[in-house]
Amino acid sequence: MVIFDRDGTLTYEAADYHRDLTRVRSYPFAGPLLQRLQEQGYRLAVATNQSGIGRGFWTRDEVDRLHSRLAQAWGVPLSWHLCPHHPDDHCPCRKPLPALLQEALDRAGLPAAEALMVGDSPADAGAAAAAGVEFALVLTGKGRQTRSQLGPDVLVLETVADLEAQLA
Ligand SMILES: [Zn+2]
Repeated sequence: MVIFDRDGTLTYEAADYHRDLTRVRSYPFAGPLLQRLQEQGYRLAVATNQSGIGRGFWTRDEVDRLHSRLAQAWGVPLSWHLCPHHPDDHCPCRKPLPALLQEALDRAGLPAAEALMVGDSPADAGAAAAAGVEFALVLTGKGRQTRSQLGPDVLVLETVADLEAQLA
């Protein structure tokens, strides 16, 4: 299975927190890539930190509506796993902790060895490592900054669109 981060990986990075969620946009290549992976039999999940909920910027309902809209646009079945908490809550689910990834694996009924996490941030890399899941860094979003913080062995993709060649 493939577990994706959302912001900076499948959708454009938020410019700031105080924006209208109805304006969140998918990268143009995200939908076609997800559709091809689904056709190849991959289970697909998204694991996303959404502390804007805990910060009071958005409601859980607004985020759920956004995710429904994205899933409809992408046209694939996706399992969504999100941390709604404020960083100060020290919750057990915020990436780089592994709980969201573990939840995605459990729902798919797959071991960590059969999953790949794709993301743009150190928290994504950390969550993957903590869950025992292979990690691929995309250079969209915060990816270029993140690259300098990770070791030389990290698997790097320009965008998620390059994932298909990687998995082939
Ligand atoms: Zn949380």
